[in-house]
Order: sequence, then structure tokens, then C-alpha cells
Amino acid sequence: MVKKIALEEHFLCPGFEDYWKTTVGDVDPKILAQVAARLSDFGDLRLKSMDGAGISRAVLSLAGPGVQAEHDTATAVRNARSANDFLAGEVQKRPDRYSGFAHLPMQDARAAADELERCMTQLKFSGAMINGHTNGHYLDDPVLSPFWERAEALGAVIYIHPTDPVVPSPALDGHKGLRRATWEWTFETGSHALRLVFGGVFDRFPKARLALGHMGETLPFLLWRFDSRAKLYGIKLAKPPSEYIKQNILVTTSGMCSQEPLDCTIAALGHERIMFAADYPFEQAEEAGHWMDSVKLPDNVRTDIAFNNAVKHFRLPG
Ligand code: MN
Repeated sequence: MVKKIALEEHFLCPGFEDYWKTTVGDVDPKILAQVAARLSDFGDLRLKSMDGAGISRAVLSLAGPGVQAEHDTATAVRNARSANDFLAGEVQKRPDRYSGFAHLPMQDARAAADELERCMTQLKFSGAMINGHTNGHYLDDPVLSPFWERAEALGAVIYIHPTDPVVPSPALDGHKGLRRATWEWTFETGSHALRLVFGGVFDRFPKARLALGHMGETLPFLLWRFDSRAKLYGIKLAKPPSEYIKQNILVTTSGMCSQEPLDCTIAALGHERIMFAADYPFEQAEEAGHWMDSVKLPDNVRTDIAFNNAVKHFRLPG
């Protein structure tokens, strides 16, 4: 087994169950109870699964949407802080196996920036995971400029995790099977990243870095089309959209154990920008690990994607 760092591995802390349950309403209660038990465990269950997948280190993030679903800003700020303190406590018990991503109250740009800074400098976290829009506000919102300024200064990678759209897409009406992780979240999350690109966020903050799961939420497949249409519609950016996707966006393999999109992503972005993730416990870490071990790749590319790129981009221990 090749040694791996996994970047989209989730947990839940006490008091956050109600936020999380808003996104899993349709799941069988029996399966839900099993997932909840795995989310709350930092011991044998999780470590055994990591060992079975060859994952030496998991960077843990709160299962969304967390405080981003909170309507009271002061409560969001307070609860985000307590979630981060909780995670820091768990990481401290197993610093050889776990690292953390910050959970942020995006309702308040300055509070989010301050909490990101506290998490990066004091709690030694590796960046932040943001669960899509916050009550309908996306990360290209100009009120979030202070947040991007700080994220850029800290060199913090901001990982956008899928969430439900503000309004369920009418194009999927009558097709429950296409909602959420099947297709709806891909469009929602890919669109979120494209709002940042087309909104000029990376012109204003050229060193800002974003991460996307699911092999880039289809963006690597569409680079030529983005450039071609941006020209047609007269989009005013310093560079073609594909350049920002190649330079400011990192991607992980979460929930995508498949050769073809990996080949496309390597061809589009370069293998140095791709990193392993399992999406535990929503996916089988062992399946993702086995796929990473056996997918057709040159040895050096495999070890880079499985381990080395994460060390480099997230400044993790080697
Ligand atoms: Mn996930």
C-alpha cells in the first residue's frame, strides 16, 4: 500500500447534530445511526479504517453545514470556536494521525478571518473547509474581502465542500435520485468555485488558494469552454478563466474512484495539484485506498497524489 494523506475526512462534535441532520433527511435511519457513530469516533473505528486504506494522516473537518446554517451570527461565531477547540483537543491526542481544518462563521467576514487566523497560528490547523454558501451568500461576496485578504496572508487553503443549493433546482424536480451527491451538489459546488473565478476574486487576491473535492467538481473537463465563452461574453479578467483554475485551485479525489476523470484532471491541471481524499465516513476509505493503490499511474505520480502534494500544499508533517 502506498502511504496516504486523506483530506476530506469528517467528524461531528457534540451539539452539532441538528445542523448536520438538515442535509441527510432522506437517508435510512439505521444507516444514519451508523454514520453518526463513525463521525463521532476518533479511536478504533476511524483508525482501523485508515489503516485498512493505508492512510497515515487524516485532515479532519466538521460534517457540514455546521454553523453556516445558523441564523444568529453571534451563535455562529461562538459555536464555530467551540467546534475548533473540540477538534484541536482530538488532534492533540493523536497528532501522529490527525490534523484539522478550521470551521468558520462566514456570516461575519472579520470574525471568520480572526477564527481562521487563530486556527492556523494557535491550533496549528491546515486551512479551512467551508460548506458552500452561508444562508445564500457565496464566497465571492464583496463583504468577504477582509476574509480573503487574511486567508491569502496566512497562506490558508480554503476547501469548498458541497452543500444543498439555496433553492432545490427545478431541473431535478421529480428525480429525487439526482439530488444532492448524485448531481445537484456537483453543479452547486462547481458553480460556487466559478463565481470566484468569474467574479475576479483571484485578480484581487492572486495568492488565494481554493480546494475542491470530487476531482474538481467537473471544472477540469470544461476549461476550454470556460475560456471560449468568457471571450464571447466579454468577461473582464486579467487572464482566461482556465488560468485561475490551474493556478489557484487544488483538487482532491474524494468520492471519485475512477480512472477517466483522474486522467482528465492530470491532463488539465497537472498531477502536482491533485491529492487523495476518501470522504470518510460517507464513502468507504478502504475502497478509495485500494483504488489509489491500483489505478494506472507512474509510481512517482501515485506517491505525489497520495502523499507528497498534500505535504507541500497544506504544510503537513512528511
Ligand atoms: Mn465530504
